Amino acid sequence: MSRPIAAIINTKNLKNNLNIIRKIIYPTKIWFVLKDNAYGHGITNICKFLINADGIAVLTLEEAILLRNENFRNPILLLEGFFHINDLKIIYQYNLTMVIHNKWQLNLLMQYPPIYPIVIYIKINTSMNRLGFNINSVNKIISIIEKHIHVKQIVCMAHFADTSQNTHAFLYEIKLINQILNNNYLRSFANSAAILWHRNIYYDWVRSGILLYGASPTNSWKDISKFNFKPVTTLRSKIIGIQKLYPGTTVSYNYQYYTNIKRQIGIIACGYGDGYPKTISSETNILINGQKTHILGNVTMDMMAIDLINIPHASIGSNVELWGEHIKIDDVATSAKTINYELMCSLSIRVPRILK
Ligand SMILES: *Cc1c(COP(=O)(O)O)cnc(C)c1O
Repeated sequence: MSRPIAAIINTKNLKNNLNIIRKIIYPTKIWFVLKDNAYGHGITNICKFLINADGIAVLTLEEAILLRNENFRNPILLLEGFFHINDLKIIYQYNLTMVIHNKWQLNLLMQYPPIYPIVIYIKINTSMNRLGFNINSVNKIISIIEKHIHVKQIVCMAHFADTSQNTHAFLYEIKLINQILNNNYLRSFANSAAILWHRNIYYDWVRSGILLYGASPTNSWKDISKFNFKPVTTLRSKIIGIQKLYPGTTVSYNYQYYTNIKRQIGIIACGYGDGYPKTISSETNILINGQKTHILGNVTMDMMAIDLINIPHASIGSNVELWGEHIKIDDVATSAKTINYELMCSLSIRVPRILK
């Protein structure tokens, strides 16, 4: 029998989220963001449901090629473009859309231009200050591209530091960008948070990652609860051991948990080696046969202990939900001092992803 931990991908919930996003942004076009193995869900698992998507955005050539091999024929966006001149041959061969964020890319592109007209995304730097051209140079960059490269379309792309409900600093940034950019240029400015809260910046293409997977871009489920998104993944496992503790006994490394009363604990097949965060606070909820309990002692590589004092009927084989429909990944992330995005991406390769 295989180890009982698994990430169950609920395809009904995935389709639900897909439809909600499409309804919200209609008629704008959407890049569904499947970088980092579709936020840990498995790119091939997710792309099956996106075969008619306007476009899919990824980071690496390997991911893009995988999508083409899965018969995805619509546009594929490389969010950071190419990393080496040799990549360009593959980009042209597979008809991929690239972001250009820097002059060195532009120079290489001109050395090895496409033989057919391509779509190019020009990344504008914002207060993120990671990648992108200074807004004051963008019009010039575009005129260089139009002069030297056979382009079908140019889209200006920007990614903002905070697009949540109550921040307006980025709206000011957008205003400045729009004052400078030629009005005829297409734009892609909105990520998941902006899709929910900033209809006025949809422009031509939005980019949706975390919402597709049914978690909140603010890491707070209550911020998105009214939109009817559904968590896509349930991380589930089982109890594989039961221990009876007596007063004065301890649990886990460094005697971390100490009990002064008699109690029963369950041992779950799930540890930090699976991607469950070791930094988790012990108050975090864990669901056993539908009943809430919490962790005792520190999470180890392959296992963790949970309190069964109020769940006397739990036994070996009892079902455990680490996160999913009842225990929101957003809440688990908060109690581990991280964000849902990181938990999704950290789910280990040894956890089987099962489509259901
Ligand atoms: C990852 C990424 C996104 C998706 O962000 P979400 O908050 O998950 O919607 C959008 N745009 C860019 C440039 C990204 O790198």
